[in-house]
This record gives sequence, structure tokens and C-alpha cells, in this order.
Amino acid sequence: MITIQAKGVSTGVAIGPLYFYKRAQATLRRYQVEDRESEWLRFKAAQAKAIDQLGVLAEKAREEAGDEAAMLFETHQMMCEDMDYEESIENFIKEDGLNAEAAVTDAGAMQAETFAAMEDDYFRARAADVKDISARIVGILSGVVQGGIDSDVPVVLAADDLAPSETVQLDKSKILGFATSGGSGSSHTAILARTMGIPAIIGLGSQLKPEYEGREVIVDGGTGVVVVDADAETKQRLLKKREELLRRQELLNQLKGQPNVTRDGQSIRIYCNIGNPEDVHSVLENDGGGIGLFRSEFLYLNCDDYPTEDYQFEAYKKVLSDMDGKEVVIRTLDIGADKMIEYFQLPKEENPALGNRALRICLNRPEIFRTQLRALYRASAYGKLAIMFPMVTSVWEVKEAKKMCEQVKAELTAEGIPYSEDVEVGIMIETPAAAVISDRLAKVVDFFSVGTNDLTQYTLACDRQNNDLGRFFNPHHPAVLRLLKLVTENAHKNGIWVGICGELGADLELTETFLSIGIDELSVSPRSVLPLRQKVRDTVVGDVKEKLIDALMSDENAL
Ligand code: PEP
Ligand code: MG
Repeated sequence: MITIQAKGVSTGVAIGPLYFYKRAQATLRRYQVEDRESEWLRFKAAQAKAIDQLGVLAEKAREEAGDEAAMLFETHQMMCEDMDYEESIENFIKEDGLNAEAAVTDAGAMQAETFAAMEDDYFRARAADVKDISARIVGILSGVVQGGIDSDVPVVLAADDLAPSETVQLDKSKILGFATSGGSGSSHTAILARTMGIPAIIGLGSQLKPEYEGREVIVDGGTGVVVVDADAETKQRLLKKREELLRRQELLNQLKGQPNVTRDGQSIRIYCNIGNPEDVHSVLENDGGGIGLFRSEFLYLNCDDYPTEDYQFEAYKKVLSDMDGKEVVIRTLDIGADKMIEYFQLPKEENPALGNRALRICLNRPEIFRTQLRALYRASAYGKLAIMFPMVTSVWEVKEAKKMCEQVKAELTAEGIPYSEDVEVGIMIETPAAAVISDRLAKVVDFFSVGTNDLTQYTLACDRQNNDLGRFFNPHHPAVLRLLKLVTENAHKNGIWVGICGELGADLELTETFLSIGIDELSVSPRSVLPLRQKVRDTVVGDVKEKLIDALMSDENAL
């Protein structure tokens, strides 16, 4: 038995075979083949598999975002069998004796070049598609699995670290738990693990050895322990813990339908954070009162090219319709820093967390922003939408973004397209600048939502991605909590509501503090809703208010 201690970032106990994430190889293998006929058949088999995979993706897209989204994958299916494309692959293999991987890559590059040189915008855009299908076929040929997991049974997934774009593409039904050598508790991968309700452990360093692959492991996301080949006693103990957690969940389930109200009558709204339309299922299952943060950039991360207005519209409409009139706060595109998207072709930066990201990109590239705003306002006709801008530092940014909202609404009116007039427009408070001028910002928006992940990172000058900074990254630091209090006061003085959508919102040690300073809404991962509700219902705010606020301003231990 091997026991490894690291850091748990998503609770729960999982047991299953360990599987190392397979990443696409960066270098293409190129060689001459002897048996050209069987190489050709190898290509044909990979082509058939790619068409099958795309069929599955088309169905998934249809369910999540409607027919138009599915069409992209159906077009890719047809392109896999395009006659010209197939003929040039055949020539490369049968005439030149090239291996299938190289033949597909070269044929794809040639066809992409032809498309790119065309006059018509539609055909020019097909260049990216042909590269994409070629990469898929090459991946299949070289044994790299789309979605990273080639296993018939669910596994505990091990990786060095996973980029958000990799995490969103994983086949979730195959994952029992995560175990990564790098990562940090407030990285987006940890956040996604919590949203998916999957136990996760990070910071394992080199302790998880490749030779453990296939062996039975148990991960305890609460304590951060990974056990390989557990002995009978340990296994029994951890399985018992898993049962207890399930029993506790059953008890929590009894809180469904109950109000989030303290023992002395103070209410708070408990909403959920989601990353894609599928997550609405767990919001409803856990009785979330609404969605306080839909990280819309995950839609972009899931695509190989800019998502169209219609694709986005279908996704937002689905979330709003499924939430059936409950409030849904959709955050506009927040890429940059750790969430990089290749097709945006953003230049490499020395300090990406301080660079061209989020609202800055949207204001610098208004055509992208406009597409998203049109999709959002069109979807507003189907539910209770609020729009939120990320990474604000100045009033002028908000004014400029709101001006674009007005322009989009005027366009839709002129086109006779319906939208709701009651869409609230708010901002995230996740920079110290925004917190400090929150008195001024409160005059131009309908609400604030505090992004404590970034607010901690920027206030403490401490990279949220860097696990080595562990104890320096302290969201309980009085500097962060004082800003939170200031923001709440400024919001309320100006008659607007304030929520928290960073990970700190689910921190039960601070629930009394949040209630004491008067936070109106906490937006947390779906699995955190019921434990938080229980905590709220056990609290008497009157008793603790002054004491807590004092402690908050001057906690000696944290200073
Ligand atoms: C935050 O910064 O707290 C936040 C909610 O946004 P994200 O984690 O997506 O940066
Ligand atoms: Mg943020």
C-alpha cells in the first residue's frame, strides 16, 4: 500500500483504476511504409472512427445548444469523406508510400491552403475546419484519444495539470476523481471539479508514478490523501467514509425547498456557478435559487473557432429556459491569463494575469463583444437574464460596455427581434481598483458580484495558479475582507445588491461574516448549496455581528 498526502480541492471519496491523461503528441511522426494497402486501410478505419466521434459530438451539441450547433459537427463529418481530400490522402499513401499520419496532415494542409485563398468568407472559414478534422484523424491514428481517456471503465484521472480547455473536453462519465501533480485550489480546473462534483486532489508533485497506472487507487478529496493498492483495513475505512458522505448528502437533501434564512430571520440568496448549459441539471438537483455566475468563456473554450451568434444564443436560451424564470447572471467572455484560446491568437505576454484579458479584450475587439451581446439580449426573451462584465478597473470601461449594450438593443429593435427590457447589468469586483472606487461604480450598474479568486490574487499580489504560494494566498486576509465590507457598504448606499461568486462564497467559516456585513447573494458550486443553506439556517446573526466585523478588520493571525 502506498499513501500520498497532497491537497484536497473537491470533497468526496472515489475508488477506481488510475489512468494517466494522454495528451496529443506535439511532433508528427513521418516515415515510409512498405505495405501501402494496409496503411490505406488503417486510414479508412481511423476515418470511420472520426465520423462516429463527430456523430456523438453532434448529438451532444444538439442537446446542449440546438440544431445549429450540431450542424458544425455534421459538416465536419461530411468533410472527412470529401472526395478531393480523400483522393490526395490516397495519393500520398499509395503513390508516395507515406505513413497515414503524415498523409492526412499534408492533405489537410493543402486543402486548408486552398480554402484560405478563396474569395468567399464562408469557404475561407473552412480552412480551420479541415485542419481540425485532420488533427482528429491523426489523433486516432497515433493512439491519442479525443477527450483524453481511452478506457471502458470510469477511472481516477491523473495528470501533471490540466488546462481549462482540456478539462471541459473530458468525457465526464469516465471520471471518478482527479489527481494532479500541479495545480492550485483556485485554479479553474479545481473550480470545474467542484462544479462537476468530482473529488479532486492537487499538488501531488512526482509522487504519483507512471507505473501505478491501472492499479486501484482511492482518493479522498476532503483530506487530500491518495492511496494506491489500499490494504483491506484502509479500504474499508475509506469506503465507510464514502457511505457516511452519501448519508450526509441524504440528510442535506431534506433541506431542498427550505428558505435560506438565519434563526433570527435574515435571508440570503444562494445561487450557483456553472461553466456550461449541462450544469443546470446539478443546479436544479441541488435546489440552487438561480445562477449567479455562468462563466461564458467555457462555451468559447469548447469550440475550435469563434462561436457564432446563433450557437451562443441557443446555449444561453437553453440555460434561461431550463432555469424557468429564476435569475441567471451570465458573465461576458473572460479569457486571457490561464484561459487561453488558440483561435483568438492573443500575443504571448510577460504577465498574462495583468494583460489583455476579459473585458479588455471585448472593448479592444468590439466585433467579438457585439456578437456575444446580441446572443445574450436575444436569449433574454426566454427567462430572467442579468449580464455581468469581468475584470473592471475603471468607470469608463463600464460606460463603454453599457453603450455597446444600448447599441445592440437598438439594432434588435430595428430588426424586430424580441428581447427583455428588464436585463440587469452588473460588474464583477475582482480588482482592488474596482473595490476602492466601488462608490462610483455603484452609480452606473445594477449589481456587484465579488470575484474573490481574482480579488485575492490582485490584492495580495499572489498568483492564484501557483500552488507553491499556498499560505501566502489567503482569501481570509483582512485586506481582502475589508475590501469586501467596503464594496458592500457602497453597493447598499447606492441601492444596489451585492453578491460573492468567488470560491470564498462557499467557505462555511465565513458565512456568519458574510451575513453580518450584509451580503445579499452567495453564488457557489451546485454541491455547496445545501451545506451552505444548513449553515445559514443554523446561524444567529444578531449575536455575532459586531464581534465578527471587529475580528474581520484586525485578525492578528492573518495579518
Ligand atoms: C473570481 O475571480 O473570483 C471569479 C469568480 O472569476 P474566475 O474564477 O472565473 O476568474
Ligand atoms: Mg475572476
